Amino acid sequence: MRDANPYVVTGRALLGEDLQEEDVTVTVTGGVVTSIEPASRRPERWIVPAFFNAHTHLGDTVAMDVPARGSLADLVKPPNGLKHRILAATPRDELVRGMRASIATMLATGTTGFADFREGGAPGVAALREAAAGLDCRPVILGREGGEAVSDGAGISSARDVSNAEEIVRNARAAGKLVAFHAGERTPNDVDDALAFEPDLLVHCTHATDAQLRRIVDMGIPVVVCPRSNWLLGVASSAAHPPIERILELGGTFYLGTDNVMFVQPDMLREMSFTATVYRARPDEILRAAVAGARLAGVSGYLEEGQKANFLVVDPSENNISFSRDVTTTIVKRLDSSSICQTVLTLQ
Ligand SMILES: [Zn+2]
Repeated sequence: MRDANPYVVTGRALLGEDLQEEDVTVTVTGGVVTSIEPASRRPERWIVPAFFNAHTHLGDTVAMDVPARGSLADLVKPPNGLKHRILAATPRDELVRGMRASIATMLATGTTGFADFREGGAPGVAALREAAAGLDCRPVILGREGGEAVSDGAGISSARDVSNAEEIVRNARAAGKLVAFHAGERTPNDVDDALAFEPDLLVHCTHATDAQLRRIVDMGIPVVVCPRSNWLLGVASSAAHPPIERILELGGTFYLGTDNVMFVQPDMLREMSFTATVYRARPDEILRAAVAGARLAGVSGYLEEGQKANFLVVDPSENNISFSRDVTTTIVKRLDSSSICQTVLTLQ
């Protein structure tokens, strides 16, 4: 969407951060939403903000569904977890092909951007850039082991796993880059250490204590929760973890992410549906969590006049979802990629 010709679509849209459901005609000119006007005729399309997957590890696409048993540390803890051994043994072109295939999967399921914790230092970051090249998506790459310097920021495995976290954070801050930590995935023990660095983003907080959650919310730090990953890795077994309800009660912000591709398909439609089923959060809260991570890429993600285009056009007519009495709820619980007929995205 870079040409100057207006793109016009009429439909039932979810507008702004409130996801206000209205029948409108949306006009995109030069890649920007230039007008949203009330429409009188009964619309045949839904116009929905595109999704942002706020936490991925695309590199481990190459370890997809490897038969494995063991603790979280055995599987994914650097430097010698199973995933790191597989990554180290994978030829570069295979790694790039895997990551590109996962980005294509995300695009097909309505996700136009993602924030990836990229392993493998600066070469690892370069491999992901190559994988994303030419695809209509907005990658936010958070590197490690030297990858911080050539990416959008630092994606620190855990404050307890990294001896030079202070230096990494100082350098990222000096360069105006993002600082993100995994924290609280299995226990609350590494959350305080991460908070000491005043990060821009925390990932998981599955087992953060109430006092920690209060601090996180007071500091205005968004939390990326990864419910399916937590359940699959055995660190969650009730709606209390990750503490989505508590974060919302405290007035905090959560985003949704799908975490390791080796265990979980990077599909935000499935993540939203699982979250709605298990956590019973309001559908509008869940949809916001699937969209607002776009802030990490410097855009709002919502459908608003003056914003770059970043929305999906859904055709509900070939499917029972045309009977929906509430578009937001139906998107969260039931949408599948077969009803997404177009993705309208402006990158530049
Ligand atoms: Zn992770």
